[in-house]
Amino acid sequence: MKYYVLFGPPGAGKGTQAQKLVEKYQFHHVSTGELLRSEIRQGTELGRQAAALIEKGNLVPDEIVVGMIRNELINNTEAAGFLFDGFPRTTAQAETLDQLMKDLGKQIDAVIALHLPDAMIFDRIRHRAEIEGRKDDADPAIIQNRIDTYHSKTVPIIDYYRNQNKYVEIDGTGTIDEVFEKISALL
Ligand code: ADP
Repeated sequence: MKYYVLFGPPGAGKGTQAQKLVEKYQFHHVSTGELLRSEIRQGTELGRQAAALIEKGNLVPDEIVVGMIRNELINNTEAAGFLFDGFPRTTAQAETLDQLMKDLGKQIDAVIALHLPDAMIFDRIRHRAEIEGRKDDADPAIIQNRIDTYHSKTVPIIDYYRNQNKYVEIDGTGTIDEVFEKISALL
């Protein structure tokens, strides 16, 4: 069983690539963004708390996402492999994930990062806003906050995984199929 992290800024195409990878490799796909949006749709207390933060472009607390990830790991021990998408997003989350995996006698195999210039991130999210109607995609100030949060809180994870020799970066600026081919070649 392989455990991969799909890493990259908001709007880098992680969700799109994850969908294609799941089709090809039957991974169990865990997107913390999707899990949170599902809580919001169901109107749970957790969803209510998360919505207020997500709509401003802020991260939700580590404890919340770590709890969701713990459930996914415990409830899917028979999966063909795991693909984490949008998680970890802080160094604390990365450290906790390592500990959770260690407790289960497992470890992350590789972190595959999609690299994209900030200006392109902006354009992609603006485009997605027209298709998916996500509130956090609609306002330029909120998009900018998400990009800033990515640089301040998420980018430090790169060194964390580089030190473990698990970090691989891919050019995320190509077409969906080009990026998919590159990731497939790596796997
Ligand atoms: P995107 O890739 O466009 O950022 P996501 O669906 O991954 O979209 O995430 C949407 C929002 O959900 C984030 O901006 C953040 O508020 C919240 N979120 C998702 N994953 C995490 C996480 N691991 N830690 C904290 N907040 C998260």
